[in-house]
Amino acid sequence: MTDTVQFIADALETLGPKVVVTEPREIEPWVTDWRGRVHGASPAILAPASTNEVVSIVKLAAKHGVPLVPQGGNTGMAAGATPPADGSAVLLSLRRMRQVRSISADNRLAVAEAGVILADLHARAHDLGMRFPLTLGSRGSCTIGGLTSTNAGGTQVLKFGTMRALVAGVEAVLPDGNVHSGLGGLKKDNRGYNLDQLLIGAEGTLGIVTAVALRLVPAVADRAVAWAGVDSPARALDLLRFLEARTTAVEGFELVPEDSLQLVLKHIPDTRAPLAGSHCWHVLIEATTADGSHDIAAEIERLLAAALQQGLIGDAVIAANEAQAEAFWKIRDTISEAERVDGQTLAHDISVPVADMPRFLTDAAAEVERAFPGVIASGFGHLGDGNIHFHVRAASHAASDWYDREGAAITRMVDDLVTAAGGSISAEHGIGQLKRAELERLAPPGRIHALRAIKHALDPLGIMNPGKLVP
Ligand SMILES: Cc1cc2nc3c(=O)[nH]c(=O)nc-3n(C[C@H](O)[C@H](O)[C@H](O)COP(=O)(O)OP(=O)(O)OC[C@H]3O[C@@H](n4cnc5c(N)ncnc54)[C@H](O)[C@@H]3O)c2cc1C
Repeated sequence: MTDTVQFIADALETLGPKVVVTEPREIEPWVTDWRGRVHGASPAILAPASTNEVVSIVKLAAKHGVPLVPQGGNTGMAAGATPPADGSAVLLSLRRMRQVRSISADNRLAVAEAGVILADLHARAHDLGMRFPLTLGSRGSCTIGGLTSTNAGGTQVLKFGTMRALVAGVEAVLPDGNVHSGLGGLKKDNRGYNLDQLLIGAEGTLGIVTAVALRLVPAVADRAVAWAGVDSPARALDLLRFLEARTTAVEGFELVPEDSLQLVLKHIPDTRAPLAGSHCWHVLIEATTADGSHDIAAEIERLLAAALQQGLIGDAVIAANEAQAEAFWKIRDTISEAERVDGQTLAHDISVPVADMPRFLTDAAAEVERAFPGVIASGFGHLGDGNIHFHVRAASHAASDWYDREGAAITRMVDDLVTAAGGSISAEHGIGQLKRAELERLAPPGRIHALRAIKHALDPLGIMNPGKLVP
């Protein structure tokens, strides 16, 4: 018997058939990445229901030298949860670990197991008059373990930060089978290296996250969602600074080019332009208050009127009700979907220093369009975080193999431009297996050396998600 076969047999004997799934039909939906681009294979899915069961699995994997690929909702954008195609690794799904172990408005903390779906945590916090403020388009499928392991961002980072800022502690099974228990939720703790922070964004390469202590904030009492038309990304950033100087209520500020708006209107049913006239760029603004007596809509309306008077914006409208607010967000959330329907698109999740983003966006788009005639390059998303989804769309006459033929060269160019601008080739989606070669090509040698040294020190047998993140 090969080590993998023996490992699965031992796991089956120790943990039983509920934990060890070998039926190919049950495995098949989980071995391809969310975008459907990377196909892997796994001889089994291990689905533990407790930290102790994860410990048993990790110890057996270490004994047999079998790599584990942790997986939550499989919504990651870098194929980090996709096993290698040769079937040499085994999927470890955390989806049965879905208890919220504790949740307290007094402590402003929830302790959620790795498999808890983000939307479920939102609902649990809401029931207590509280809120877990991180949110993103995949909230109905992604898990706390996956969000932690990718250091996910989303649309409210401007005010609340990424997972790094919202995680108060992590429980994880380390590659040697020891459990790191950091769930105490201590505000201050200076006992040396911060293992919790090391595990956040580690993409499963340093251990299996089994539970996470998460910071809560008071629930939203009211929100104002507005749409504004602006001349340029630079004007959009001016508007954000204008608002920030006058209110602390803004927590979402998303940039949308006219071209993306038109694609959504063309391909997504039940969408309509929020403003009557035509504008080169748009911003979606969300402001919230936890104070029920605060008229947030009136405050934002007053500020947008002042911005209009100063010539910062061409026009603006505030959603009259929740349905209209959701309709505004639908435009933002379906840009990628509309692009997919329209044709082939190459996505880059990049960041540069915030103040440099407007110029970067305009210059990089012009340079890519010059170098690859016919393509359309543009960006949308989290302008206030200096994070844009820089997408390059194929020319309308492009051959069906455009992505395979030109994709790598375009991505190289975008990544070079981002690096020259002092930015990051992965702002929030992680490295996974899709960006590993580019990380190795572009990261300073000191960074690569440190990544490899940390990986080797904690996982000398290389059983934690090999082939991901660390070049
Ligand atoms: C429609 C849509 C919108 C999105 N919007 C955003 C966005 O705005 N911002 C953003 O940051 N991301 C976004 N994403 C990406 C994605 O939702 C996040 O990367 C999410 O954090 C992944 O969670 P998951 O549970 O699906 O993890 P998976 O995809 O299953 O795994 C992701 C990585 O984490 C590892 N992992 C998973 N669970 C564990 C664990 N318990 N222990 C150790 N390692 C683990 C995996 O091995 C893999 O490397 C979006 C995705 C979709 C589909």
